[in-house]
Amino acid sequence: MMTLRAFVTGLAQETNVFAPLPTGLRSFSGRFSVPGRSDDTAPPFPESLLLGGRRRAAEGVVELVEGPTAGAHPGGLVTRVAYEALREAILSALSAALPVDMVAVHLHGAMMADGYDDCEGDLLARIRALVGADCAIGAMIDPHAHVSPAMVRAADILIAYKEYPHTDFRERAEEVWDLLLATRAGHIRPVAALWDSGTIGIFHTSRPEVRALVAEMQAMERSGQAISVSLIHSFPWGDGADFGTRALVITDNNRPAADRLAQALATRARTIAMDTPNGGVSLERALALRAADTGTGPYVLADSADNPGGGAAGDSTFVLASLLARGVGRTCIGPLWDPQAVAIAMEAGLGARLALRIGGKTGPLSGAPVDMVVTVVGLDPAATQDFAGEAFPLGAAVALHGHGIDIVLVSERDQARGPDLFTGLGVTLHDKDLIVVKSSQHFHAGFAPLARQVLYLDGPGSLQTDLAAYPYRKIIRPRWPLDAMGREPWMVGGRG
Ligand SMILES: [Zn+2]
Repeated sequence: MMTLRAFVTGLAQETNVFAPLPTGLRSFSGRFSVPGRSDDTAPPFPESLLLGGRRRAAEGVVELVEGPTAGAHPGGLVTRVAYEALREAILSALSAALPVDMVAVHLHGAMMADGYDDCEGDLLARIRALVGADCAIGAMIDPHAHVSPAMVRAADILIAYKEYPHTDFRERAEEVWDLLLATRAGHIRPVAALWDSGTIGIFHTSRPEVRALVAEMQAMERSGQAISVSLIHSFPWGDGADFGTRALVITDNNRPAADRLAQALATRARTIAMDTPNGGVSLERALALRAADTGTGPYVLADSADNPGGGAAGDSTFVLASLLARGVGRTCIGPLWDPQAVAIAMEAGLGARLALRIGGKTGPLSGAPVDMVVTVVGLDPAATQDFAGEAFPLGAAVALHGHGIDIVLVSERDQARGPDLFTGLGVTLHDKDLIVVKSSQHFHAGFAPLARQVLYLDGPGSLQTDLAAYPYRKIIRPRWPLDAMGREPWMVGGRG
């Protein structure tokens, strides 16, 4: 048997069109070289697709060509120069690798660039044009995606993570490779249906009704009704025609079944989305709940509106300022992105007491800087935090203590993922009443086990939950919760 030739690549960023930080070439890391920027580090996304390819190459199943990979943390709109340069780097490496039997691509799915509302659809269509109809193309995406008909048409296999927090990237990457190989061998003929739910929902898989939905999706796959079932949550802080919660079902050469299952899944998702209370609790309410609870153990408060994992700057001070104004102690908060304050505190050194201006530097959605006298209680020139067994860098980081509050400042922008973000800098957690994390949901896996209660805060910022506050221009309306009632689910695209 001839060894199959596979090309693996990746380009990923989640675009928050309302966030203030633009995403230029300097924001990307990974293994790529383009005019004006080159890098040779691990990209800021799980490399499970690459590792799955390498393992199959080691087993002699494929001959692997490793193409460029580039990723940026979630942020504002990607510049046209950055997107086009990285896309051309991938396409020229693929051209040089031809002929190939299969292409595996790591994408996010919610990347928007200046002039491109659907970067992934554009990239996949160009890959298809290069490799021809017989090559199998598979992509792994984040469920916080805007999945377009162009993406579904271009890729044979398109699989989103099922878990939120996204702890299942290894399993999904294995599926992409297995299904690519089965497609290329002619064992399956993937066809797909994409249905829009008429809503934009939040689907924490830690909630029982969403857990049940994931179990149903997996049952569809196990029973053989479908090859792959993905619920596309969508990313609420994007914009464009493909914005919205969608169901994507791939079957083995049975388009009517794909449509039937996708319609059913979109209908279920619509019900769950419309039954989910919109928004979280106010800080006032969270403090009242904690005060009324005589039990011990921390309440973990998610400052979702300033989640760097959704493109926010991560330096907002609204919660910190409110806690200080109220004299609330026994609290820790982090990670707050402030490289300048980190540098000053590092220079002062461990144990130093100094007046420091903290956060609030990026723009109005970050609030005002907070001036406070703090003691440097921890520092690490290269801090990391653990998420699903991988170490995520925080850059130089410090822990500060003042007014009963421990604050972790970092110089690499990232959301809260693991408790070691605090404990790695010597901040204890069990003795806190409140742990405030800059994250929407990825914190949940690591922090829920030590939390007496987890609460999602509502407040100002780049990702506030009151979506009506944002000036969307391109999305298809009516759509719940922006409109009183969304449309009934409808078919938006498919393949086969
Ligand atoms: Zn996501």
